[in-house]
Amino acid sequence: MKNFNLTEFQAFVKERDHWPKHKMEVMLKLVEEVGELANEVRKASLEGLSDSRRENIELELYDCLHYVTQIANLYEINLNEAIDKKEKINKERYKR
Ligand SMILES: [Mg+2]
Repeated sequence: MKNFNLTEFQAFVKERDHWPKHKMEVMLKLVEEVGELANEVRKASLEGLSDSRRENIELELYDCLHYVTQIANLYEINLNEAIDKKEKINKERYKR
């Protein structure tokens, strides 16, 4: 697996997983993965951060990123453009 930039990653996800007729299912999968991430973060806060716990968080972050990217693809949203747009809004909103 190579180091992707965001545009390449978005194309990779579209080629591998693109389900235009199942938007709600993809959304629910994201929610499921956010729950899995929350569970790992909660365990880390209760039990401490071991190497395996950190790896679990890493893998759940990837799952979330994958579904976020799938959703962007389903609505033909370019994530680089979304970042630019939202950062301009945030810059104004939070004066940073
Ligand atoms: Mg997961």
